[in-house]
Amino acid sequence: HWGKQELPRLKLIWKNWVLPKVKFFHWLANMDRCWTADRLQRRGLQHHPRCLLCDQEPETIHHLLVSCTFSRQVRHDTLSWL
Ligand SMILES: [Zn+2]
Repeated sequence: HWGKQELPRLKLIWKNWVLPKVKFFHWLANMDRCWTADRLQRRGLQHHPRCLLCDQEPETIHHLLVSCTFSRQVRHDTLSWL
């Protein structure tokens, strides 16, 4: 995970002024260490077959943050509200 091209992005996470728990979440997401269904499956743990928010695709961190239709709608609504 710590390829040379990854380092500037990780440095950016730590330098920005955001709440520590948000920083930590971004760090976990970048390292693919969030307990999403794909990770639970790799560890042989109980998991849902599809994303609980949209019920359309397998739950991965990339799906939740980028491609999930439900997450996208929430993001869109939040930005509109702001
Ligand atoms: Zn989804």
